[in-house]
Order: sequence, then structure tokens, then C-alpha cells
Amino acid sequence: MSNNILQLLEQHNNWRKNCINLIASENVMSPIAEKIYVSDLMHRYAEGMPYKRYYQGLKYFDKIEDIATEFFKQHFQCDFADLRPISGTLANMAVFSALAKTGDNIITSGIDGGAHISHENPGAAGLLGFKITHFKFDQNYNLDLKDAKFKIKKLKPKFIVLGASVIPFPFPVKELKEICKTTNTKIIYDAAHVLGLICNGFFQNPLEEGADIITSSTHKTFPGPQGGLILGNIDNNLQKKIRNKIFPGVLSNHHLHRIPSLYIALSEMKKFGKDYASQIIKNAKTLAEELYNLEFDVLVKERGFTQSHQVLVNMKNKGGGDFVAKKLEEQNIIVNKNIIQGDKLNIANPSGIRIGVQEMTRFLMKQDEMKQIAEFIKKIIIDNKDIKQEVIEFRSKFQDIGFC
Ligand SMILES: *Cc1c(COP(=O)(O)O)cnc(C)c1O
Repeated sequence: MSNNILQLLEQHNNWRKNCINLIASENVMSPIAEKIYVSDLMHRYAEGMPYKRYYQGLKYFDKIEDIATEFFKQHFQCDFADLRPISGTLANMAVFSALAKTGDNIITSGIDGGAHISHENPGAAGLLGFKITHFKFDQNYNLDLKDAKFKIKKLKPKFIVLGASVIPFPFPVKELKEICKTTNTKIIYDAAHVLGLICNGFFQNPLEEGADIITSSTHKTFPGPQGGLILGNIDNNLQKKIRNKIFPGVLSNHHLHRIPSLYIALSEMKKFGKDYASQIIKNAKTLAEELYNLEFDVLVKERGFTQSHQVLVNMKNKGGGDFVAKKLEEQNIIVNKNIIQGDKLNIANPSGIRIGVQEMTRFLMKQDEMKQIAEFIKKIIIDNKDIKQEVIEFRSKFQDIGFC
């Protein structure tokens, strides 16, 4: 039995080395970050805050967590950072529950507006019993400001959530700040997808634009270990409240071995992040344009397709997102099906696929490679060709991780 598990693991590892991974929410750590990820820390507990723990044995880890937390505060220029949430979902759960209680109004983007399930029902916000109202978007992912201001004024929500899982374009943080001040509404910006772009100024800076709090994952465009974090410019009272929701609220163990790797990932971003993020944006634009030239229905042409790592393609007339994603997988190209703006809510077979170029960018692919990938996708989906060997051959030349 255990033998079989080892075999399967080896098969997985080998297969993924031969695949073009275009899942927008994934990435790989640098060899150093990966190496130090496995340490004695993965066996330990550290309930509470550095130097104020409920267990002994943490004299070195206290310093590690303290230094890493200060590093994030300094880099993102904010007065609050907490690296303990072990996922973006739990970061949201902690912040949401600190800001509102059952029955309170909140406003989010809705799944077809790109929201993560944790903003919605039956995810975290639903579990917490909030009354959830949605912003309105047009076909081009423009948030309807007039409608938003009307809803905020009327409902006086405890918080609104901007930022999303489908996030080709920035959100209007600045534009909603004034009205949120008048209703005492906090702005949470969920940066899970775009933290690695925000990090060096290649996407909107939510805190600078007026968001009170950033919640995020640490493993999408930001190439850290899987986990979450919270950043913000908030008063002491709210800081305390959020810390209390993290522990003892939503977690006990915070997977300590993540923290050194997280520190390394931010160091790498400080040093190489500008080149990395600018290449991501160039790659995403190139892939979108090439797919469009090959007659795919790429969203949103009117807005230049994308300003992030994401490319959205409507595959409705190609069999739907589910069909296309499975067909690509057979040829070692990995994407996910996704609800897109205007879709009838059909989670099983939505019209779209969502493509992210961040991981292949880390493996040092550039615009030429994006053109090649667009060509591969055409051969598979439009010409019905079997090109798996070609894909494997192509991928074999990109095995080293850059920007570290
Ligand atoms: C991925 C994602 C999350 C959840 O992150 P996990 O770390 O997987 O829990 C939260 N919000 C958004 C917008 C996301 O895309």
C-alpha cells in the first residue's frame, strides 16, 4: 500500500514536470524556499503571539516570526501584518468575523463577478450568516459605481470586499473610499491572486488607494508557501480583534514551517520581483493577443484583455470550459474551467477557462513561448491534433526556476 503511494507521488511529480501549468492560483517556490520548508518547525505549536506563547520551546521561532512579520509591514508600508492564517480563506474568515456579526450587511462581487467562494454563500461569509448583496458588473468587468454607491448608502454594510479570483483588471478602491467613510464601511481588498504583482507596483496598491485591510493567499502570483496573510492600516482595537479571531478563533496551529519560506519569498520579490512581475504582465498580454488572433473569444478586448497574470477565454462554442479544460489536460496543458461574466451560473460546465501565466513565467518563459502555447491550444482545441509529445519536448527546456 505505502509502496503504491510512493509510486503515485513519483508519477505525479514527473508528470507535472512535463506539463504546462496555467492554473492562475498556483506557483512554485524557489529551491531555497522549498528546501527550508521542511524543518523541525513543522512539528511544533506556537499558539499566541511571538514572546507571548502558550507553549515553551519557541525561543528561536519567536524571533523568526517577529522578523518576518516586520519585514512584511515594512515592505507593504502598513502598521499591521499577521502571517498566521494558514490560508486565504481563513484570513478572510478572521477579518470578516472581526468586522461584522450574523445578520449584518456586506457587499461582495458575487461568483459571476469573480468573487472567491469565501466571500459568498456557502463559503465563509455565508457560514458567518451575513446578509450578502452583490455589486453589479457589465460584460467588460467594470464595476457599476453608481449602483455600488447607492447600495452602500442604503445598506450601510459593515464591510465590502474588493479583489477577486477572476481579476484581469483593478477594482475601483479609490472611487468607493469616500462613500465608505460616510457609512463607516471598511474596505477589504482580497489580493490572493495579485499579491505578487502588488508587491512591486505592477497592480493597484489597495492600501494606498484607501483599502483598510488586505487579505491574501501567499502562493499565487506571490511565490511563497501555501498559506494566507493579513495586512492593514487599522487602529489598535481592530488589530487586537483580528488577532483574536485568528487565534483562538479560526486556528490553533499556524504551520510554523511556512514562515521562513515566506520570508525568503519576500526577499526574492524585493530583489527580482520587478523583472518577474513585468514579465508576467507582458506574457499575459501576449498570450491573450495570440489566442485572439487565432480566433478564440478572449475577454475583454475593449480593455486590452488583461492587466494581471490572468487571461479569460469564452469557450462556449468550443464545447464549454469543462470540455476544453479536460481536452487540454490530456495533452499536458493544465487550466481550469471558470464562470465568466454573463454566464448562467453553471459551476459544472461554465463557458470560460481561466489561464494564469505566473508559474510558467517563473520557469523563464517569455513572449515567444506564449505564442507557442497559444499555437498549442489552437492545435488541440480547434484542429483536434494530438501534440502531447511536442508539449513535453517544449516544456523540457524550461525546468529551471528564475527570479531567485
Ligand atoms: C484563492 C483565493 C482565496 C483563498 O485562498 P486559499 O489560500 O486557497 O484559502 C481567497 N480569495 C481569493 C480572491 C482567492 O482567489
